[in-house]
Amino acid sequence: MLALGSLAAVIGFLGCTSVGSAPHAAGQGDWIDVHVHLFADKGALADFDESAREALRIMDAERIRTILIMSPPRAREGPDTESLAQIVRKYRPRIAMLGGGGTLNPMLQEAGKSTGVSEGVRQTFEETAEHIIASGAKGFGELTAHHLSLAPGHAHEAVSPDHPLLRLLADIAARHDVPIDLHLDPVPSDIATPANLGAAQNPPVLKANVEGFERLLAHNRKTKIVWAHAGSDPLGYFTPKLVRELIERHANLALSIRPTSSRPGSMVLPTGDVNQEWIAVLREFPDRFVFGSDTMIVATHYTGPNTPRLFANRGEGQRRGIRRLLSVLPPDVARRIGYENAERLYKLGR
Ligand SMILES: [Zn+2]
Repeated sequence: MLALGSLAAVIGFLGCTSVGSAPHAAGQGDWIDVHVHLFADKGALADFDESAREALRIMDAERIRTILIMSPPRAREGPDTESLAQIVRKYRPRIAMLGGGGTLNPMLQEAGKSTGVSEGVRQTFEETAEHIIASGAKGFGELTAHHLSLAPGHAHEAVSPDHPLLRLLADIAARHDVPIDLHLDPVPSDIATPANLGAAQNPPVLKANVEGFERLLAHNRKTKIVWAHAGSDPLGYFTPKLVRELIERHANLALSIRPTSSRPGSMVLPTGDVNQEWIAVLREFPDRFVFGSDTMIVATHYTGPNTPRLFANRGEGQRRGIRRLLSVLPPDVARRIGYENAERLYKLGR
């Protein structure tokens, strides 16, 4: 829906790189992508490797220094860090990982169906989280407290953002001084699901979740939470105004930018038009943002659900939007949001 719009922008960009041999200020235009998904079947290391090599090709072509790979927030148990840990051993420091999307998130979604959490579930959850960090993850992700379904077969997931297991994870993350990457499609107050999202697997009513998210942020101030997908949420409530309010109230909140959508109010439109309200927030809080394109790279022999293939062409449009932002931001802000904040938050290169 947004990939076809800007052939001119692509040609313009390619034109720029081909004449870009003039020396750059150190690192100018470089960036780190903190939100990339590789798709292959569980344990299919050669297929994960194929996806990783494709990621490296994109990184070389687009001046991406480092990427963080992670499982999406799965509704059911699936591939998590088993193969990614081996990919990271082979390709570090250019590829680093987060963990929990294929293990902790399914436990969280299951626990969210009933009130209360048994001691056994808490213990398994904590042991799994500890194992993820011990296997080399730079943090936890991708987890979700509200994930809208955007296509048939794409899960709707929702739990209270201050669910006991998310509070437990916040404490574990604080103990290890690592961030949590959280997908939360924000809903300020209960609403009827918009008609355009009704055809997917969403319930008729979407529950308010911003106050619960603020309680999670307040639960442990040492826990850094990276709120994913700023700039392009499907509902339209993830606004510069809301983000400014939450940044001001919560010193432990950071956001990863997925800038492009054809929705009015998105950070970068497919035409390349940039939303000045968003730019004002980035300039005001340059230490709170990183880039996360949500690029999905699917191995040739992947046999899982079709959704990643449906979404696989979106990453290119997001990366184009990120380059557009890097070109309009003041150089010091572009450097911080481009890579310095990510290096600090995720302790990359250490
Ligand atoms: Zn997400």
